[in-house]
Amino acid sequence: GPTRTRRVVVLGATGSIGRNTLEVIAHLNGSSGGPRPFEVVALAAGSDAAGLAGAAAAWPRARCSLASLGGDAPPGWLRGPGSAERLVREASADLVVAAVVGVAGLRPVLAAIDAGADVALANKEVLVAAGELVMRRASRSGSRLLPVDSEHAGVLQCLAGHPRERVRRVVLTASGGPFRDRTAVEVADATPDEAVAHPNWDMGPKISVDSATMMNKALELVEAHHLFGLRADQLDAIIHPQSIVHAIVEYEDGGVLAQLGAADMRGPIQAALAWPDRPAGCGERLDLLRLGGLTFRSADPHRFPALGLAQRVMAAGGTAGAVFNAANEAAVAAFLERRVPFGRIVGLVSSALDALPPRPVARLEDVLDADAAARRFVGDAVGSPPAA
Ligand code: NAD
Ligand code: MG
Repeated sequence: GPTRTRRVVVLGATGSIGRNTLEVIAHLNGSSGGPRPFEVVALAAGSDAAGLAGAAAAWPRARCSLASLGGDAPPGWLRGPGSAERLVREASADLVVAAVVGVAGLRPVLAAIDAGADVALANKEVLVAAGELVMRRASRSGSRLLPVDSEHAGVLQCLAGHPRERVRRVVLTASGGPFRDRTAVEVADATPDEAVAHPNWDMGPKISVDSATMMNKALELVEAHHLFGLRADQLDAIIHPQSIVHAIVEYEDGGVLAQLGAADMRGPIQAALAWPDRPAGCGERLDLLRLGGLTFRSADPHRFPALGLAQRVMAAGGTAGAVFNAANEAAVAAFLERRVPFGRIVGLVSSALDALPPRPVARLEDVLDADAAARRFVGDAVGSPPAA
């Protein structure tokens, strides 16, 4: 086990992953015989001041930051859009848990990487939007990117101890979301409430919509492409409604390794925090006999066109990922505000990719410019939001 206490920053501390992370940390601290493995030194959130105060109650010495400037917050908290990044710069952290939703997490993650901290990454949009830049900076600083996304945590476990050049194919599983057994026409006018009602996972609203459109798996394919250096033709997604097998890695010799676990994010969160150790967990345990069976079927590319967009983005490289991610963030936000029907989300992302040809990424600004252009494109296509 670890020999000293690691300083941890939790970005997105009030969200679904953030709250589960704090629970895993409390568990690992409570069950370790020796010194506490983790000390939470800083916590960041978007706009939920009460939630952040609640999270900070267990860590009275932790610094806090809130991205929004509205509402009240205790004195001493950092405030404003750049506050999470500053929090990371000043934290001297050993580990930064990135659980912000969206590309808003990009600058704080780059700050963590440049400081040489390890990053436990749930915030997949960061790799989708800026994978080339992030991986380049991480290899320069020596910071480790430890995936929290369950599929990628599974891939990492299946890759460990095996030669990377012998990997033939990596398959990510998708639950299929709440609409997996319905046709595109049947779900075209689904409401936000229907879209966020996921059968297997209790997650934030944005990833729940992504799961319903299959954009979540598309984002994850691009995430895996960057994280593990896999080519587009080595990556695939299949539907597995039970969400028990998270990832499958096939080697040249025909051997196939899969990672299994209960559908409980505390598993992959702990795997990242304790990596490569495997101490007792606090999540649900897997009982295959009670489950009875595991089933798999192909993900129909016509029913789920988001998957084809992922292939297109990986082939294009450069700013394509930033456009892909930002157009999706904007389209999902418009859907949640009931300004766009469910059935139009993926089409908007596809049109943004058509309209904004990929350019090389040399600097962060290249990513941010492409991100802004994609948001403008979607904004123009759906009309501006009603004035507040
Ligand atoms: P969530 O909506 O529940 O939480 C998001 C968190 O980010 C909140 O704490 C919010 O306050 C914070 N936040 C938003 N904007 C911010 C900003 N500008 N600066 C700082 N903090 C900000 O979302 P979630 O479900 O926890 O997902 C978080 C990330 O993890 C997403 O990228 C998601 O795709 C990924 N992920 C989630 C799950 C899951 O089970 N929830 C699984 C795999 C991956
Ligand atoms: Mg996932």
